[in-house]
Amino acid sequence: MLTLAGSRALQDAIAIARHGMSAAAAGMGALEATHRGATALPPANAELIGAGIGRLSNMVVESGEGSWVWTADGERYLDFACGIGVTNLGHRHPEVLKAVHEQVDKIWHAQINIAHHSQMLILVDKLRGVMPAGSGLDSFLLVTTGAEAVEAAVKLARHATGKPNLIVFQGGYHGRTALTGAMTTSKYIFRARYGPAPAGIFVAPFPYANYGGLSVEACLGQLELMLQQQTTAEETAAVVIEPVLGEGGYLPCPPEFLQGIRDFCDRHGILLIADEVQTGFGRTGKMFAIEHAPGVQPDVLIFAKGVASGLPLAGIASRRELTDRQPAGSQGGTYAGNAISCSAANATIDVLKRDGFMQKVNERGEQLRSGLEAMRGILPIKDIRGHGLMIGVEFDKDKLSKGIAAQVSKACLSRGLIMLQTGVFETIRMVPPLNVSASDCEHALRIIRASLEEVASCQ
Ligand code: PMP
Repeated sequence: MLTLAGSRALQDAIAIARHGMSAAAAGMGALEATHRGATALPPANAELIGAGIGRLSNMVVESGEGSWVWTADGERYLDFACGIGVTNLGHRHPEVLKAVHEQVDKIWHAQINIAHHSQMLILVDKLRGVMPAGSGLDSFLLVTTGAEAVEAAVKLARHATGKPNLIVFQGGYHGRTALTGAMTTSKYIFRARYGPAPAGIFVAPFPYANYGGLSVEACLGQLELMLQQQTTAEETAAVVIEPVLGEGGYLPCPPEFLQGIRDFCDRHGILLIADEVQTGFGRTGKMFAIEHAPGVQPDVLIFAKGVASGLPLAGIASRRELTDRQPAGSQGGTYAGNAISCSAANATIDVLKRDGFMQKVNERGEQLRSGLEAMRGILPIKDIRGHGLMIGVEFDKDKLSKGIAAQVSKACLSRGLIMLQTGVFETIRMVPPLNVSASDCEHALRIIRASLEEVASCQ
């Protein structure tokens, strides 16, 4: 029997029939740099879009199915970006599609300040069921975007503790709004010349071993020092951390670092907020990345992106003892917990919870990591890292020309593989759908090899 994902050949055939193109136009099996995505000129009307939006390419994406997207001019690309870790079940997963279609026929905007709606009531129960075991996270707020959820978590922490300040980490990313941009230090682009930044945000070092970084022990020592030199425990509401730095370079937190931070928070009466916007909902091979650090439970867990397979939905999970004290009306937003997004989230969680799903995520992760290990000889690679299907490959920037990660990403795009960079350390990131097939991973590895060879030949 064929699974939903089907065989690669069958998927190709269905997709080609549905998208009305020849196998040649679909770019099947081609490793030549024939795709125009990397070189396409801006389409008509693009100048009407504000310059503040950056983008990888000038492709005009028209449709998507599973791990693949099609452009308006009929080119097919393997999507190893997933809309920055969002379409975690691939594009238009059949079960999510069905749920969305059903909800479209019922109600779209069932505004949460006016009434409850069924999809949200179902969703909060499902969310409670997937929270890390023993976390006690039993109170949920649904909003629309990741940055909005981070802001909601900060408001909650300030209100619950009566304290104003936050500690964040160097290289962290929490969003582009005024507050979350100020909490972000993965790159200066998100904040430079947009100041003054809101006050009360203190940046602690992250244990990143390369380029003279500090050890876990030293970073934990620096945290203690911060309380004596910069923000006292009596003023500090929360420590906010991504269990894997996403935009900062796909850097997993060492478990002992998270354990040390949990201990630090407990000793000083500070809340621990895990920003799982990018790492949540199976991306790292566990439902949440904090579960890679045994014994560490966050007081607030922020989620977004993968929760609804591409529909806008985000939220925070916390404990009732913290949220009960918030005045009604002080949190939320017009579009918070949109009914269609909630229906997509309900279907998404059902798929993620299915037996064997996470095992497959980890198997595909192993496949990609070992395939990448075999490429170390082509270009100097400093590090291959990450859990599950959140994989970073850092090139050795001391031995290579500046912009090497961008060159590799571009070479991949011209062979039909969408792959992003991350951070400032010449790193490319693999964020494929969690249900990507083994043959699509092999295809991606072949493209990456060909791309590394091309870039190496120009060094
Ligand atoms: N936190 C993290 C860890 C993220 O990766 C992102 C988005 N890349 C955000 C917050 C912000 O989410 P959004 O873009 O939906 O506002």
